[in-house]
Amino acid sequence: MNNDIRHDGARRVGQVKEVTSLANPIVKDIKALSQKKTRDETRSFIAEGLKLVIDALDLGWTIKTLVYSKAAKGKPVIEKTAARTIAAGGLVLEVSEKVMSAITRRDNPQMVAGVFEQRWMPLKTISPVSGQTWIALDRVRDPGNLGTIIRTADASGASGIILVGDCTDPFSMETVRATMGSVFAVPVVKATVAEFLAWKRAAGVNIVATHLAGAVDYRTIDYRSRPVVLLMGNEQSGLPDELASAADSLARIPQSGMADSLNLAVATGVMLFEARRHLLSLGDHA
Ligand code: SAM
Repeated sequence: MNNDIRHDGARRVGQVKEVTSLANPIVKDIKALSQKKTRDETRSFIAEGLKLVIDALDLGWTIKTLVYSKAAKGKPVIEKTAARTIAAGGLVLEVSEKVMSAITRRDNPQMVAGVFEQRWMPLKTISPVSGQTWIALDRVRDPGNLGTIIRTADASGASGIILVGDCTDPFSMETVRATMGSVFAVPVVKATVAEFLAWKRAAGVNIVATHLAGAVDYRTIDYRSRPVVLLMGNEQSGLPDELASAADSLARIPQSGMADSLNLAVATGVMLFEARRHLLSLGDHA
């Protein structure tokens, strides 16, 4: 094995770099992924946890760097994941717990994290067909909401998420954590309002906008005969008129009690599983 002591706090053992210094430039680059600017520039993001990393590799996502803590060294599953990373052209770092904490910004970090290439689906490639449910989110701001919606979309069999306007980043650490791995399973698209409206006209989709002033009970909507896009409003201000007026229907989830609205992720979950219930009653029990 070719051991090589370097001047950047790293020691190379075979194809694995051992890193203990927070000043190591690779560690600094990975830490910088906590900033959106760096994620955008490098088109990368961090996912934590061995299961997530393995799921991502199985789904064909491109890994740039695998990081594992010393405590995980020698475990067969770690060695196998390291070998897959190297075979894919990625880098493998074995780090101290201090470095892992700094990278993941946690006191009790996971033992494994991966840096992956971001993946965005271009809007123009989406041609929904009947039986599909897509979600369009207007200016979603809260990373926890977006992560929960991605996770719920995955669990309900939705086809993907269109982020309309200035939305929170689906690849931030907080969002990725909240997806519990579903970020690797659900296609994400971004669009301006104008792009979304132009696509809607060409795609022949049924836009079901959810609105507190909606006139249609969400249970009575036809989720089957055309592909559906559930259009959900911003957490603070709801849907702007420009989007609401482009919808085929304005749906309301009847509420009781004092709350004036449902949380965005909860409302999306209710809509997704209602659409699924209608689609399953077609006889598709997938
Ligand atoms: N103050 C905002 C408003 O006036 O719309 C509340 C927004 S709510 C927290 C976020 C989004 O969840 C709404 O824009 C809508 O898409 C959806 N939503 C929440 N409760 C709903 C309900 N009872 N019926 C239909 N949509 C609802």
